[in-house]
Amino acid sequence: MKVIVTNIQRFSLHDGPGIRTTVFFKGCNLRCPWCSNPENINFRIQEYTYENQKGIYGYEISLEDLEKEILKDKLYYENNGGVTFSGGEALLQFEKLEPLLKKIKNANINICVETALTVPKKFIDIAIKYVDEFIIDVKILDNEYISKINGDINLYLSNIEKIYNKNSSIIFRIPLVEDYTTTDSNIEKIINFLKKYTPKKVEIFKIHRLGENKYKSLDLEMPIFKEISDDKVYKMKKKIEESGIKVEYCKV
Ligand code: SF4
Repeated sequence: MKVIVTNIQRFSLHDGPGIRTTVFFKGCNLRCPWCSNPENINFRIQEYTYENQKGIYGYEISLEDLEKEILKDKLYYENNGGVTFSGGEALLQFEKLEPLLKKIKNANINICVETALTVPKKFIDIAIKYVDEFIIDVKILDNEYISKINGDINLYLSNIEKIYNKNSSIIFRIPLVEDYTTTDSNIEKIINFLKKYTPKKVEIFKIHRLGENKYKSLDLEMPIFKEISDDKVYKMKKKIEESGIKVEYCKV
């Protein structure tokens, strides 16, 4: 069995607890206008050209080779370090990945997944058997606006319910994007959501206009969105914290 990845990043410190190896899979079913990794959206290997240089986004790797890559850093996985699956939408690979997930779990290596959680239920059923920590995006909960990112609120909510009821460890990450995630009604919904599904941690971060060269290399136009000001980030943080939820502002 083979999967397509765009990158395997070693010694990562921001994708879960401890020192981690992060595997970025190619392919995502959402279309966030602020996406800074457009090379991770298409599920296939893609050729690109940038400033007369040709290259390729993505490569195939067998599960056996991916296991070897992950185990190379086993010595560094102390203090809860381990492997993080990211993307794209990593959970969409979990059916193919299950034999490897079993082996990693048996080797007592901590498994995290970074996900936008808008995936069919069958992937959640696999994930809850193996994942130690879910790092979940909370983007748009407003039913009226979620179609802007190709999302599905009912699917998202039923998936979170399932994960929460399994007592899985959850970190919520909220990307702050003007006119998309920071509208008054969306923030109200996010606050109610956080009160219901108490996580281990809530992180907010500001989205920058990154990835323009990658869009150009794929002959795509980068969607237009406004970066939020620091002042507004602190107002959002205060607003969420006033409802009794502690929030960490991650400056990336
Ligand atoms: S979920 Fe992530 S990878 Fe997918 S489009 Fe949105 S920002 Fe990009």
